[in-house]
Amino acid sequence: MATTFKTIEILQVPFINTTQRHFLKAVETRVSQRENIFVVTANPEIVMYAQTDCHYLSLLQNADYVTPDGIGIIKGADILGTTLPERITGYDVLVDLLKWGNDAHKSAYFVGAKQEVIDALTPIIAHDYPNLTVKGMRNGYFNDFAPIAADIAETQPDMVFLAVGFPKQEQLIADYRHQNNGLWMGVGGSFDVLSGMTKRAPEFFINHHIEWLYRLLSEPTRFKRMLALPRYLRAVRRQKRDELD
Ligand code: UDP
Repeated sequence: MATTFKTIEILQVPFINTTQRHFLKAVETRVSQRENIFVVTANPEIVMYAQTDCHYLSLLQNADYVTPDGIGIIKGADILGTTLPERITGYDVLVDLLKWGNDAHKSAYFVGAKQEVIDALTPIIAHDYPNLTVKGMRNGYFNDFAPIAADIAETQPDMVFLAVGFPKQEQLIADYRHQNNGLWMGVGGSFDVLSGMTKRAPEFFINHHIEWLYRLLSEPTRFKRMLALPRYLRAVRRQKRDELD
């Protein structure tokens, strides 16, 4: 039987109410049974985008698991009085699944990021996860995903990681997931970090829940995208007021 978790809704997006450990266990069990699973790790920016695109919102509602990626989601849950235990970020899930895939001799397919990132990532994966079979490594700058999906269907990886940013990665997964049973997960900019081309925030920023501030300082062009956060918090407070009415 498929493992399900209770969910809480933030602006109509259903987040799983569980710990990262329990979530990973469920995913690993289902991948081992070659079930078809779609995971979204959603942050406030994704939630706000979904408010403007009902097709994207319904795609999130139909994913198998939406995890709280970022302190903003945890804060939103607190505002609504439906506390979530912890963040479950795309990067952490990716790294954990690679470790598990290595231990359990699973296979993976990687699509996303620039070719130079893929070039840097290939030897790192081979070195750090020698027992993980890599079925494909492609950059994310393609015109047509269909030939890549055909290769995925042919090579049958246990896990597909798509790092082309939202909303594209989730839209592609929804369109093509039927072509291979296994995990399909969007991982945003994670290949950039995993390859060492982009640094993740130092521990200090992570521990103080201000990883967003580090990203803003190191990539000031993200400022406009980050305006989604205060808008999101205002919208969640509105949801809370509506629930009380
Ligand atoms: N990207 C890609 N193809 C595209 C556009 C973007 O592969 O057509 C990659 C980009 O190189 C980066 C990732 O998608 O590696 C998006 O990273 P971002 O930091 O925006 O994602 P986030 O983690 O914020 O969702």
